Parts: sequence; C-alpha cells; structure tokens
Amino acid sequence: MIPCITSSKLESLKALLDGTGKVSVIAHVHPDGDAAGSTAAMCLYLRENLGKDAAVVLPETLPDSIRFIMPGSVPCLFADKSPEEAAARIAESSLIVLLDCNGFSRTEGLCAALEASDAPKVLIDHHLNPQQRQFSLVFSTPEISSASELLYWILKALAGGTEKLPAACRTALCAGMTTDTNNFANSVFPSTFAMASELIASGTDRDAVIGHIYQEYRENRIRLMGYMQSREMVLTPDGAAYMILTKDIQERFGYREGETEGLVNVPLAIREVRLSILLTEKEDCLRVSVRSKKGTSAQQLAVRYFNGGGHENAAGGKLVPGQDIPEVKDARRYVESALKEFLA
Ligand code: 5GP
Ligand code: MN
Repeated sequence: MIPCITSSKLESLKALLDGTGKVSVIAHVHPDGDAAGSTAAMCLYLRENLGKDAAVVLPETLPDSIRFIMPGSVPCLFADKSPEEAAARIAESSLIVLLDCNGFSRTEGLCAALEASDAPKVLIDHHLNPQQRQFSLVFSTPEISSASELLYWILKALAGGTEKLPAACRTALCAGMTTDTNNFANSVFPSTFAMASELIASGTDRDAVIGHIYQEYRENRIRLMGYMQSREMVLTPDGAAYMILTKDIQERFGYREGETEGLVNVPLAIREVRLSILLTEKEDCLRVSVRSKKGTSAQQLAVRYFNGGGHENAAGGKLVPGQDIPEVKDARRYVESALKEFLA
C-alpha cells in the first residue's frame, strides 16, 4: 500500500530488530507531536512485542502541551537535561532507529554521538532529501501524512495486525498523525484515513487524543494567539503574512514552548495570503516556522533564507543575529526583503 514499504525491506528490518540488544529510538530537535508519537510507538513495540531493551533519546525535552504523548512506561533520555547519559546510551546501542527527520544533522546535540556509532541505523521518515548514506535501511516517502503513519504501516505488517500492537503504541501513533496533519487539515492521503479508521476500529480512543491535544491549553495561549493575530500580524503586498513573537511579548503573556502551536497556519485562512511566517525569539536566534498554500514552496523559502528545510508546504529554520542579520530588531526588514524577492 505504501510503495517504500517493500517485503524485502520489512524482512531486513525484522532481521535487524530480532538480532539486536540495546536500541536507541531518536527524533529531531524541537520535538513535535509526530516526533514524540513515532518514537514512543517504536519504543513500545520493541519493548512490549519483542522484549527489547529500547529507550527513546531526544535532543530536547518535550513541551508540556505534548508530553502526554510519551507514556510513563517509555524510558526517555533528553540530551538538553542529561547530555552524557544520552550520548552513552547511543554509544552502547547495537541498533539506532531515527524517526521524523531526514538525517543526523536534524538531531543537533546528538549528531556527534550518531556519527561516532558504528551500529546499524534505520531511518523511518517523511521529509524530503533523506540522507541515505547515513543508514543501513531507509523507509522514506513524502507521500504520507507523518512519520507516525509510516511507522504504523510498518509495525502493523511486522506485528501481523493492528490489534497486535499495544494500546499505548496505537494511541501514540494516532496522536503523532493527528498533530502532524493538524487534525486532518494538511498532508492527508487516502492511507491516512485508512490508518485512522483501523485505529478507531481497534479501540483506540481518538476522543481522548483530541481532548489532550486541543482542549488542555492554558488560558495564556488563547490570549497570546488573539494578541498576535490582532496586533502583530503583518500582511505584505506580495500575498504573505508574518508575525514576530519577541521576548518582550513572550514575557508579557507568560509564554511557554509549544503554546503558539498552529498560530503560523492562521493567516493562510485569508484569501490573499499564500505564505505565512512566524518568527519566535530564542536565546541565540529567531526560530522560523513557514507554511504555504499549494503552488508556493515553504520548503524553498526555508532553505534559501532561513537555514532550514522541511516539507513543501510546512517548513522551518532559523535566523541568527550576528550572522544573518545584525540584530533581532533587523528581522522585520530581512523578512520583508526575503518575501519580496521570493514571491516576485
Ligand atoms: P515547525 O514550523 O512546526 O517547527 O516545522 C515544520 C516542519 O519544518 C517540520 O517538518 C520540521 O521538521 C521542519 N523544520 C523545522 N525547523 C527546521 C530546520 O531548522 N531545519 C530543517 N531542515 N527542517 C526544519
Ligand atoms: Mn513529522
């Protein structure tokens, strides 16, 4: 059903999993719902179905809003909290599974440990440009909603049916797919609905997943989202929108990581807007999120102007003061000139 999942690749994966001892399951820096869901699900399958010593190793701690996706039963190491432990875990693993990113560089703090490891490595991902040479086995296609969906089809085949997967594994996959598609709004394929249908038929509580993702925010988020849309959204004559979430605004609204999830999508609701950018000021850079309508490439914009990449219509990157722009206050001018050039 998914062309990159061939029976010979499944056989190779099965042999790697059967033959291994310790496994590290890894995803990208700034982990999102798909990174959390796919790593949680892989780890649960390895531990509960195969009895393996598997742990999730992430470059950074999960934001509060998606922490529910990682069940307490999954051993989890975060490189920003315990870098030595994370690196040691990778060094002693006899198999590495990388999910929801196209290569080592997207794991930032874990990159050196991955390069130093000579364990076989498996990539399961849906981004463009998979770094094939870094892996012994690659399952990769952009023609799928999420890494969680791709993993679902792989695990279903390995386990011999949806119902053979642990309930917590199915729930994590459901959450990962739901967040990456923005609840079936983007990157949805026939296979995505088939996955949802099979998960619900097998008793997965989608209502609970939806409740956790969309109905448990703090009041601050709602007030901040309203403020950004009414006061900070700038529309350009070229059909773009951008917003800058400065440190000052973050402090005023008591902002926490993850609380502007979905904000960058909002301006695309305007007929004239084909590209939307959100810049969020961090300690050493501005993090950039880009979304576009069909026919305009968010990915190209992120690659050309923001040191980044991603998917055709959902991408990201960063802008570094002292490197790309003199100071944070120059971001506005940089963005406007980039948009003018890109959309000309
Ligand atoms: P978000 O805007 O939600 O942070 O990211 C949207 C998409 O862009 C995700 O698929 C993410 O993997 C990708 N992305 C975000 N930041 C970067 C980056 O710095 N580099 C690359 N290559 N991709 C990114
Ligand atoms: Mn993803």
